[in-house]
Amino acid sequence: MMQLSIKNLTKTYPNGVTALKNVSLTINKGMFGLLGPNGAGKSTLMRTVATLQEADSGSIQLGDINVLEDKVALRRVLGYLPQEFGVYPRISAQQLLDHMAVLKGITDKKGRKTLVDAMLERVNLQDHRKKSVSSFSGGMRQRFGIAQALLGEPKLIIVDEPTAGLDPGERNRFYNLLSEIGENVIVILSTHIVDDVKELCSDMAIIHEGEVLFSGSPQLAVDSLDGLIYERTIGKAEMMEYQQKYTIISNKLVSGKTRIHVHSEEPIPGFSPVEADLEDVFFSKIMGVSAAQL
Ligand code: ADP
Repeated sequence: MMQLSIKNLTKTYPNGVTALKNVSLTINKGMFGLLGPNGAGKSTLMRTVATLQEADSGSIQLGDINVLEDKVALRRVLGYLPQEFGVYPRISAQQLLDHMAVLKGITDKKGRKTLVDAMLERVNLQDHRKKSVSSFSGGMRQRFGIAQALLGEPKLIIVDEPTAGLDPGERNRFYNLLSEIGENVIVILSTHIVDDVKELCSDMAIIHEGEVLFSGSPQLAVDSLDGLIYERTIGKAEMMEYQQKYTIISNKLVSGKTRIHVHSEEPIPGFSPVEADLEDVFFSKIMGVSAAQL
């Protein structure tokens, strides 16, 4: 079975920032969520797996490919949708995708045309194929990004922060597209948005300050907080007082009132027990709440 196995990966940038601290992860086929706040090290990890930058130490193995040693072999089976595409040339989406297919080694002209058209159809951009990608909306660009990432039947697909900047409708269309990619490839979705992982991923990891704080299924993550989350709705002015008294792991505005989630070993008078959600897990991990039990 094909697996991506990341072992003891470490990276310190020349400015002294350690972006990855001994990161180890095993990633199987299906949709994997790499969840972490901004600056956690997600892009550094994704770029290293995509062979776009070097690590200081550690190893990455994809099936029988030693990724850090054999970059060419990895690139042949990689589909990568980076956070930022940079500037697009002023050519049509169809021409650009065709060009990208050439770069992926698809040399047969007729086959390539069929493939490019099929891809544009698949991401629902066929009506816009004559337009330049630079004129596309954020959601259309992301769909174009997926089309280019899917060229050449990749075995490993990496999407870095794909839904940032998309409106809810675009985000939904993008989710649907991702979920159709298929079960026979490894898809890594790097994101700081808990909902991205909740809706799409069967497996996940939480990364913070370059360290993996959790790895497993979203359900396992939520179960680890079973019976430890309590909720109460408070007035805005009371926030400070509650912050001093309790371990508040999240707060949300609900119809103008503040609803807080508190982590506690025991019931608290005035609070109701609630089922933990993935957001609670994310914030409690990041805040380092009772690391012993999590
Ligand atoms: P994320 O993708 O989770 O936001 P990054 O991998 O981009 O995290 O960044 C991790 C840390 O490394 C951050 O502190 C960031 O400022 C730093 N960093 C990222 N790229 C560079 C770079 N090229 N040079 C120096 N520091 C960097």
